[in-house]
Amino acid sequence: MIIVMKPKASKKQVDHVCAKIKEYKLLPHISKGKETTIIGIIGDERILQGVPFEGFSGVEKVMQILKPYKLASRDFKKENSIVKCGNVEFGGVKVVMIAGPCSVENRKQILTTAKAIKEAGAHMLRGGAFKPRTSPYAFQGLGEEGLKMLAEARDTYGLPVVTEVLDTRHVALINKYADMFQIGARNMQNFELLKEVGKTQKPVLLKRGMMSTVAEWLMSAEYILANGNMNVVMCERGIRTFETATRNTLDLSSVPLVKGLTHLPVAVDPTHGTGKKSLIMPMSRAAVAAGADAVLIEVHPNPEEALSDGDQSLVPAEYRELVKETEKIAKAVGRTI
Ligand code: PEP
Ligand code: MN
Repeated sequence: MIIVMKPKASKKQVDHVCAKIKEYKLLPHISKGKETTIIGIIGDERILQGVPFEGFSGVEKVMQILKPYKLASRDFKKENSIVKCGNVEFGGVKVVMIAGPCSVENRKQILTTAKAIKEAGAHMLRGGAFKPRTSPYAFQGLGEEGLKMLAEARDTYGLPVVTEVLDTRHVALINKYADMFQIGARNMQNFELLKEVGKTQKPVLLKRGMMSTVAEWLMSAEYILANGNMNVVMCERGIRTFETATRNTLDLSSVPLVKGLTHLPVAVDPTHGTGKKSLIMPMSRAAVAAGADAVLIEVHPNPEEALSDGDQSLVPAEYRELVKETEKIAKAVGRTI
């Protein structure tokens, strides 16, 4: 951190800032120019987060040097992390294909979908048992019954399952049935929930909040890592912009950006990212071209009857085509599916 003092800052004001820095057992380094005094801080400045230096009298501005996230940072770990989930690995040469319905609706629906996506080439099954719906009157998910159906589909078809956890009270229950927690966009900054999944060793798919910056998203990952769970996969799912032609604006530039900032694998969800069936395949291809480690797609055997997100769900035949097309891009960039 560098603290720039105002041109007329007094010695007393400079000393006051230095004293505060020393309270945290860090060393201030004063560089006195003709006009201004600059105080550099030697040591890990992150412990100073929350000290309101900008408000100290005589201070002009404060500049952070180190990233506010530590364990998530590439500085902490240079090589890519591999996150294991059952027989699947995120962050290796293979791009992980995750597919399934928005919501688990009944046993037949989830078993039919699991079989179809497995045949199409998917590696993991998704499906919500606890749904974060905008309307309290909309289908809220089957809860534990849905988790049991997911577990049966996993055991029948050998596909590890990922499902959303909405609430700290459900962490232990979901931990019992699922292979990976999904933290949804709406909960990306539910810090108590992040801490709770951080206390388990189960992999976590951390969706980007719909109004979150990359730095905020990485800080959310940091919460999970700081609580002891290093098995985090970041998931870009689009952000809200002024554009209304798509459900969200899929920020594919975040993929190479985040992969540069963190060692954690990065997934992309073109389904929620666009909300438009016609855009899902091209954005899946683009995601892999941009370096995505996983692609998450909603698939439903009969989207017309879906209880949530039917309008953006692919049928199994469309998903099969998507896997084939995405595989061509994977090969072109030295990866496999
Ligand atoms: C989902 O994956 O079903 C979902 C609700 O996603 P998001 O949190 O990205 O909206
Ligand atoms: Mn959905």
